[in-house]
Amino acid sequence: ASSAAHQKVCVVGGGPAGFYTAQHLLKACQDVQVDIYERLPVPFGLVRFGVAPDHPEVKNVISTFTQTARHARCCYYGNVNVGTDVSVEELREAYHAVVLSYGAEGNRSMGVPGEDLEGVYPAKDFVGWYNGLPSNRELNPGLDCETAVILGQGNVALDVARILLSPIDELKKTDITQRSLDALAQSRVRRVLVVGRRGPLQVAGTVKELREMVNLPDTKPEMVASEFEGVAEALKVIPRPRKRLTELMLKTAVDPPAEKERQRRQAASLSWGLRFLRSPLEVLAGPDGARVAGIRLAVNRLEGTGDGSVAVPTGEVETLDCGLVITSIGYKSLPIDPAVPFDPRKAIVPNSLGRVQQAAGLYCSGWLKTGPIGVIATTMNNSFDTAHSVVEDLTSGCLDVTSAKPGSTGIGPLLDKRGVKPVSFSDWEKINQEERRRGAAQGKPREKLLDVEEMLKTART
Ligand code: FAD
Repeated sequence: ASSAAHQKVCVVGGGPAGFYTAQHLLKACQDVQVDIYERLPVPFGLVRFGVAPDHPEVKNVISTFTQTARHARCCYYGNVNVGTDVSVEELREAYHAVVLSYGAEGNRSMGVPGEDLEGVYPAKDFVGWYNGLPSNRELNPGLDCETAVILGQGNVALDVARILLSPIDELKKTDITQRSLDALAQSRVRRVLVVGRRGPLQVAGTVKELREMVNLPDTKPEMVASEFEGVAEALKVIPRPRKRLTELMLKTAVDPPAEKERQRRQAASLSWGLRFLRSPLEVLAGPDGARVAGIRLAVNRLEGTGDGSVAVPTGEVETLDCGLVITSIGYKSLPIDPAVPFDPRKAIVPNSLGRVQQAAGLYCSGWLKTGPIGVIATTMNNSFDTAHSVVEDLTSGCLDVTSAKPGSTGIGPLLDKRGVKPVSFSDWEKINQEERRRGAAQGKPREKLLDVEEMLKTART
């Protein structure tokens, strides 16, 4: 139910950006009603479908989002696909301000031959599969091979590497889907190589995720010491977070291990490694012509130093045998409505401080605003910034708040006419309860529902 507040704002997307934008608006304005429209019945975006199942502490933000959703002047409408079920123009008619925060749901492609072979998956889909994203539930990735290659060296790549090599007994205690747990238990993958275009000093991952690899039970690192030439010298001039990451890589790749570590490595049956200065040229098919059997890589050298350096091919080429390729080269926002300005090159909605250019009353936040970079805290800050712009415009007279707007009362009948039945936050809480109940039966915090129809049915019982 909508409150009596006079200023109506809606947020498109129920991920961190949507919830943080709503949180700030509710706190800063006492006379604002904030409605959140989310495509899926279930909220929280990549906190549910991206964050690795073995990082439960990262998901603690859900309790703050839940408080926001339960706020007297906030309303959650799940199962509403903006751009399809309701247009952005219709939302702009019904609300004083509309904030787009629908994230980055597309994949960047490598643009190399063989990319569509069986056994090649975008990390987004692979992660979606083990995290129960309904659209990825049938992925069934083939894990019947010894070597997996991951292209890209960010935290998502490290998450995927870790999940592929983690002991099943550890994963069992997480909210990873039972289906993927069963598949991983049968996995024959013994070796995971995480390949990057540039050098050790340009790795995008962070030290926590790398340390988890270094400490992963039953694994040994398989690094190439010669790839670290000159890196120790560079340590003196690099800033702190990267310095710690680089020190850990150097220690793992170059230093002779202490006796205990040597023994641990010797006994390990699995291995992982970072590979540098390699760009994909072609994914190679096996004898059947359908399944991946290897990848051809260009060997690069670096021009320039630090973050600004570029990889330039040397002309040398090498081939790696592998039966699984996961591309982790970035997510990408997509346009959802032709009426909204979109920059196809940067794949964001062009904006200044969250205000969409040439569209009064339209805003954006989160990954749609910045591109798919940064952690939840980054998303929080940029969403607070956008909310701040909205508050400024609501109070400065920039937006005409003297004319009454219907808010959800205007949108409800449209949805109804189109046969769309929104899921409320208390409906979601029924799904949540059911997932926890199913999880408890298996000693897990949650067993996610994988099917939208089943979510809807559960919400309505
Ligand atoms: P999203 O989280 O993607 O939310 C967008 C929401 O919009 C989704 O719920 C989506 O369903 C909805 N939506 C999409 N289209 C529509 C539409 N047409 N109509 C209505 N709703 C729509 N950060 C950390 O701090 N720690 C981590 O451990 C971590 N792990 C990560 C792991 C992975 C694999 C990924 C990809 C990211 C990770 N991040 C992590 C980063 C973090 O997830 C992002 O910073 C954050 O989720 C971005 O928030 P967002 O709201 O912009 O996008």
